Amino acid sequence: ATPTSIMVATGRGAELGVLFRKGQALQLLKEARVVAVDKTGTLTEGRPLLTDLHVAAGFTRAQVLARVAAVEDRSEHPIARAIVAAAHGEGLLLPPVQAFESVTGHGVRAQVDGVRVEVGADRFMRALGLEVTAFAAVAARLGGEGKTPLYAAIDGTLAAIIAVSDPIKADTAAAIAHLHALGLKVAMITGDNRRTAEAIARQLGIDEVVAEVLPEGKVEAVNRLKAAHGRLAYVGDGINDAPALAAADVGMAIGTGTDVAIEAADVVLMSGSLQGVPNAIGLSQAAMRNIG
Ligand code: ADP
Ligand code: MG
Repeated sequence: ATPTSIMVATGRGAELGVLFRKGQALQLLKEARVVAVDKTGTLTEGRPLLTDLHVAAGFTRAQVLARVAAVEDRSEHPIARAIVAAAHGEGLLLPPVQAFESVTGHGVRAQVDGVRVEVGADRFMRALGLEVTAFAAVAARLGGEGKTPLYAAIDGTLAAIIAVSDPIKADTAAAIAHLHALGLKVAMITGDNRRTAEAIARQLGIDEVVAEVLPEGKVEAVNRLKAAHGRLAYVGDGINDAPALAAADVGMAIGTGTDVAIEAADVVLMSGSLQGVPNAIGLSQAAMRNIG
């Protein structure tokens, strides 16, 4: 590409809200074969709501929700905000918390009112030696609806299953159709539950799903997809997306995401929409057509 065509594409990108932080991204993007996308905050709004709460025998909704929300009040995760908002919405007072701990990719734990409370994914419960089979049917239904099932344990007993649901952004489906029309494969990489991830992938026509990955597993997934398909663009918004953004041929951050993701990216999608990805690829193709 000529310096002029790069300047033109960069300027046009700015108008479209696509910020090229590294010149090389413009050259590499048109060669992308696969777009790997983070789920929460990238495909979805990143603002989940609590939709379901089933307590086990011997527990009351108000007590479980108050204790769980008290722990989550100390977490920054979008799931945590959903649970705290629900507790506030039900007028519950959050008891004081001690010894809060966040277990990456698993959940959170603390002492509340002198009892031990753990909240998180099924693998977190299993790691604690708790069986979640009592809620297996409910969990399967919730996951099939694209909701994220979570579990709460109180003093080592399974006390509740909770679901949160994060709406898909209005223009995500169109952006994926656009990428398919450009001949690209689209893969989702997420720490979320497999059933939940697959339900959302089905709704959006996503080709491949890598679910239940720990943050460090995202890079491994990126490398596997690169080996299988060729040049890869990764799109994400979170702190835990930064290594994957760096490992991709082209890292693309959602502009409404975290500073850490933006710093690690080659391209920033200022509008926060996935539509910026096919737009950026189109600009790359146009710029490179003027080779000379
Ligand atoms: P993602 O960004 O894809 O959600 P994370 O690694 O942050 O990936 O979380 C993976 C899973 O760990 C979540 O889907 C959830 O099941 C569990 N988890 C993480 N943080 C929390 C939290 N604060 N409360 C409950 N569950 C959590
Ligand atoms: Mg995210």
